[in-house]
Amino acid sequence: MELSAAISSFLTHVRVEKGLSPNTVTAYRQDLAKFALFAQKRKLALAAVSKDERAWLVEKYPNWEQVYGDKWDVIIDNVNSNNMEATLPETLPWLCSTCHLPACNATQSRDGTWRVRDVQLTYDGRIYHFCTNGCRQIFWKDRDNVNHETLIDRFLAGQIQPMDVGGILGYMGLTPDVMGDDPDYEAWTKDYAGRPAEGLAAAVQQ
Ligand SMILES: [Zn+2]
Repeated sequence: MELSAAISSFLTHVRVEKGLSPNTVTAYRQDLAKFALFAQKRKLALAAVSKDERAWLVEKYPNWEQVYGDKWDVIIDNVNSNNMEATLPETLPWLCSTCHLPACNATQSRDGTWRVRDVQLTYDGRIYHFCTNGCRQIFWKDRDNVNHETLIDRFLAGQIQPMDVGGILGYMGLTPDVMGDDPDYEAWTKDYAGRPAEGLAAAVQQ
């Protein structure tokens, strides 16, 4: 996805699904426009945290390092120790019953646990899970219209075969012949060469 398309879809998401105020959305739009210019000037990759980008994120969002920093560090360490296997998903994230995006909003840094916020409600004998209170509220107000099975509901019902990550990627049309590695990893992870590895990467290096 192009950066401009990603920004536009993010702004729609925060406006519609997160229900943020127009002033907040405008502030996001202005910050992201500055970021797009910065990324364009430096020819930066779209999904990456080079040291420059990280400094920019921390300046704009002082909490960024605390919430997201060590998650990116694990990816960086695995890429730099050539442990690409560890950057791939082993299982599937739970999907929000309203927006169908992964319900995996992190609420705190690692410190032993990467806690995920679970927003739920019980309706007609079933527990539904949502990414945010906004999505929970939309579902409740319009539950007869938006009550669709998520991809994970279909997976668990056995409608997607084989029942593994490969099976679900194939169901979405992501077969090995059209998939590839992230070409941008090399471009930015070398920024961190020499950084002591943590987690899985450390285990591989030993
Ligand atoms: Zn949602």
